Amino acid sequence: MAPAPASKARPARTEAPPTIVGVIVIDAGEGRELKEQGPGQFRWGRHPSARYECRICRTSTDTVTGSLAVRRFLDHIRSTHQATCTGATIEGAHAA
Ligand SMILES: [Zn+2]
Repeated sequence: MAPAPASKARPARTEAPPTIVGVIVIDAGEGRELKEQGPGQFRWGRHPSARYECRICRTSTDTVTGSLAVRRFLDHIRSTHQATCTGATIEGAHAA
């Protein structure tokens, strides 16, 4: 009897699963748009907020509150934290 064809064997996966280095926690808040006051005007029951938790250095940023502040925060938090993360050197992020 012939051996099973090799094409049935799956190539072994050698890539490691992606490492989670940080988590962005977002609370979208609760609010309604005040149409009579024009677009973008909201009455907030609870303002949106966000914070970043780093799994490498195990710190959490302060929570930012407010839709504009949250938007700005999300734009830059990853790069900003990478620059100051105290765990990055331990993990060998400085290749040189
Ligand atoms: Zn960190």
